[in-house]
Amino acid sequence: MMKKHAIIFFLICAIFSGEVAQAQNVKFSRYFHNATLRIDYLREGNRHGNTIRVLRDQLCGPWAGSLKQLNDPFNNGFFRIVVKDIETGKRLYSRGYNSLFAEYRDTPEGADSMVSFEEVVRIPWPKQPVLICWEELGEDHHYHTQYALPYYPEERYAQMLKRSDLVLYHEPVKLQYKGNIHKKIDVVIVPEGYGPADTTKMLSDMEKFCEFLLGKEPFKEHSDDFNVWGIPATGEATGITNPAEGVQVNSLVGASYGTFGADRYLMTQMLFKLHDAIGLTPCDHIIIMANSDTYGGGGIYNFYAMSSLNSIADRILPHELGHSIGGLADEYVDENLSYGDTHVKTFEPMEPNITSLVEFDKKWQAMLPEGVPIPTPVDTLVNRKENGPLGVYEGAGYQAKGLYRPVMHCMMRDYAPFCPVCSKRLEEVFSLYTK
Ligand SMILES: [Zn+2]
Repeated sequence: MMKKHAIIFFLICAIFSGEVAQAQNVKFSRYFHNATLRIDYLREGNRHGNTIRVLRDQLCGPWAGSLKQLNDPFNNGFFRIVVKDIETGKRLYSRGYNSLFAEYRDTPEGADSMVSFEEVVRIPWPKQPVLICWEELGEDHHYHTQYALPYYPEERYAQMLKRSDLVLYHEPVKLQYKGNIHKKIDVVIVPEGYGPADTTKMLSDMEKFCEFLLGKEPFKEHSDDFNVWGIPATGEATGITNPAEGVQVNSLVGASYGTFGADRYLMTQMLFKLHDAIGLTPCDHIIIMANSDTYGGGGIYNFYAMSSLNSIADRILPHELGHSIGGLADEYVDENLSYGDTHVKTFEPMEPNITSLVEFDKKWQAMLPEGVPIPTPVDTLVNRKENGPLGVYEGAGYQAKGLYRPVMHCMMRDYAPFCPVCSKRLEEVFSLYTK
């Protein structure tokens, strides 16, 4: 349990948090232990608002992230976790993210029904009292603090170190180890839908997924920047829950097809189980590998990516990693998605690879070759295996009108190679973990 007064003191305040990219001027060893603080909480609400209810804190192995780049420079994600020095207000750590709740609130049910979603954040363990702030992107497109938790870490740290139940649940398999976890992107593959008799297949599937993760550019070129860990854990039975086929399986992390009414949307809402499976394994990003040949998957920024083992998993996985690691938007059009209409066209969308042309200079304008018309006429003759010339093509972010993408074809549209705009952002994100 968390300190009593830490729970009682919620400060619900709407402080304008500023959007200036944070300088990386925080000396890690002065402010943090080399340890991960995992916080489990519920986000409860609907389209009209949501609240944070913190449930527990845990010591979760060494810190896997960078020791030099603690603040998030991207201003991407509907939500952001920010750690501030309680005395000075200095921002010590920040990370933007999205979650299933952000999609739920755009579904028809999300208009009124209150629902609780499990969420987990992993942050470096502070050495001195801090405010842990949950921020949300407001309608004014600025981040506002929705809940600030005063956290007194030293006593908790001493208590946690003494606890004997902090065991590694599953000794991870090193699928690829390239060195120092502070200078590598540590990706954890969690197998889902494997029963006790499937261990051999599970280990070989994890090898395959490691290849899919590193198989396409820009991941391939940066392969040496990744450590890849596999969790050799099984559930009670084989298979994945699929309501459309009447299949219900008691699996390791409770994933299911049919999320928010979309057959192919394969996700889990059981974030606590997921992070329990990861245990103390160094973790910057999560992949859930689903033991099913039915098409499906999903990816949410700094949350997790998921894909089944279907015939095009080598392309689905990089697409979902585009969401979960890169914070990239879908570049395709699908106006029937119940959870898709998240882009307000009077602002620039926060994702780097689509634009409403409201402030295009903040997007890829500087990368455009001279003389390219804005918008750029669609060229349907471009081969699907090529991007085509960089431009500003209408139809992106699920919308046929009013949102634009950089190329004709991209991994984020139709599994073509990542376009130059998406590749650039992915490489920027990689470098946040490798210095
Ligand atoms: Zn793209």
